[in-house]
Amino acid sequence: MNKDAATEKKNRRRANPKRRIIGERERMCVICRTLKGKSGLIRIVRQADGACAVDITGKAPGRGAYICRSPECVSAAKKGKSLFRALSPNEAKGKVFADAAFWDELTGLVQNNAESEEEGL
Ligand SMILES: [Zn+2]
Repeated sequence: MNKDAATEKKNRRRANPKRRIIGERERMCVICRTLKGKSGLIRIVRQADGACAVDITGKAPGRGAYICRSPECVSAAKKGKSLFRALSPNEAKGKVFADAAFWDELTGLVQNNAESEEEGL
């Protein structure tokens, strides 16, 4: 029957290709401990002098920690010590610190993201 063929065709088209990023490894936010793909997180890297830096490329050398692209986690990181602790497992290697410019950059990143992520996942 013609009708069946049409229905079958419709059903086949309905099968949506799933929006899935393949091969993306999950990382944990050091603040809220949620596992997310790298695209949902920002990498913070500890530089040689102990200063924190935002690692946009995700490939900067040095010890790194991940934090959600969310204003909540950024402000929690600013208030607490979790981020510094994650970046300095060994105190003997010196203190980790973050200056105002670092926080400004991080805050700017999560604010921009909040606007553009509306139609995301
Ligand atoms: Zn988080």
